[in-house]
Amino acid sequence: MSAHRIAVIPGDGIGREVVPAAIACLERIAELHSLTLEFTPFDWGSDYYLQHGRMMPDDGLPQLALHDAIYLGAVGSPEVPDAETLWGLLIPIRREFQQYINLRPVKTLDGVAAPLASEHPIDLVIVRENNEGEYSEIGGRMYRGLPQEGAVQEAVFTRLGVSRAAHYAASLAASRRGRLTSATKSNGIVHTMPFWDEIVAETVSLYPDVTLTAEHVDALAAHLVLKPWTLDVIVASNLFGDILSDLAAAVTGSIGLAPSANLNPEGRYPSLFEPIHGSAPDIAGNGVANPVGQIWSGAMMLEHLGHTQAARHLQTAFEAVLRDGVRTRDIGGTASTAEFTEAVLSMIDAQADEQVAGLS
Ligand code: NAD
Ligand code: MN
Repeated sequence: MSAHRIAVIPGDGIGREVVPAAIACLERIAELHSLTLEFTPFDWGSDYYLQHGRMMPDDGLPQLALHDAIYLGAVGSPEVPDAETLWGLLIPIRREFQQYINLRPVKTLDGVAAPLASEHPIDLVIVRENNEGEYSEIGGRMYRGLPQEGAVQEAVFTRLGVSRAAHYAASLAASRRGRLTSATKSNGIVHTMPFWDEIVAETVSLYPDVTLTAEHVDALAAHLVLKPWTLDVIVASNLFGDILSDLAAAVTGSIGLAPSANLNPEGRYPSLFEPIHGSAPDIAGNGVANPVGQIWSGAMMLEHLGHTQAARHLQTAFEAVLRDGVRTRDIGGTASTAEFTEAVLSMIDAQADEQVAGLS
């Protein structure tokens, strides 16, 4: 079995707590499935910034390029402006490595009480365009000291950018329930959205098994709260997808549960796997962070690297632990990060034993 080189950036705050927890789980899985995962840690983040004036070294991106995947915790610190942490590390990685798909699965988990409890299970995926749109570098500036003081930033939507996101989302929908919802705001106020609609419709028409519905993002936000179980795959621009996915994660329980993959689908560059939550300075250092989003992101990384069975093993292990009632505080439990992780490690072993028993 070939070795995979994985760059690990725990980052800041609870990133430094949930990343080691999840790596312990990945190492156990690797051992049981005879995979070689070589983890290389990088101490980049806000402390690095306070010492060196930048989030990562000059040759940070070329160093990462030597890896098969990047496993990130979270970056962000009260001592460093968020613009520095994001534009100094996360955004350059997403753009340099053409990670134009931000994939965010959302589903209800047994044992986790959703704040809007209903008998319908939620199982949807948000495909967020990750390289352009509202998070563009064009025109972003503030105009101070003028009578018309203000700030301007241009949204950029290209045919290539929109169509590749739509292709990815449509083919994913075709492999699921065949329903694709596009988040739009095409009622003439946001001038880029009619273009988004046009390219999405054109692209999805190539997938006869996929039904496309365009929904205004404000109505779609309400839809996600009221009837999330009717949604299958959502395709959205960078900003809309960012907001909808935090909302969708909260609807199923806690943002501490939700994973994400920043994908370069062609595999030309490394993809990046991270939980959707941030560094949570309010609870950092207390050992109480929920490691599920980080562990689940690890399962997505295994899947991306081609190890479907190992990914499924990790996924079923943490799901079974939640079902057994072991929970961190954010979802109403009392377990510490370490206790939850120990329970996952034991469950991984127990499931491996069951499999062996089942085979004999
Ligand atoms: P956050 O996700 O860090 O925290 C929001 C709330 O959710 C907090 O109350 C926090 O305690 C809770 N929470 C988050 N993850 C949790 C977990 N795993 N277990 C238990 N509770 C959890 O968002 P924020 O407060 O808006 O941002 C804090 C910092 O993180 C900022 O500097 C921000 O820029 C950064 N951030 C980074 C990323 C990233 O690295 N991709 C993403 C979002 C925010
Ligand atoms: Mn976000």
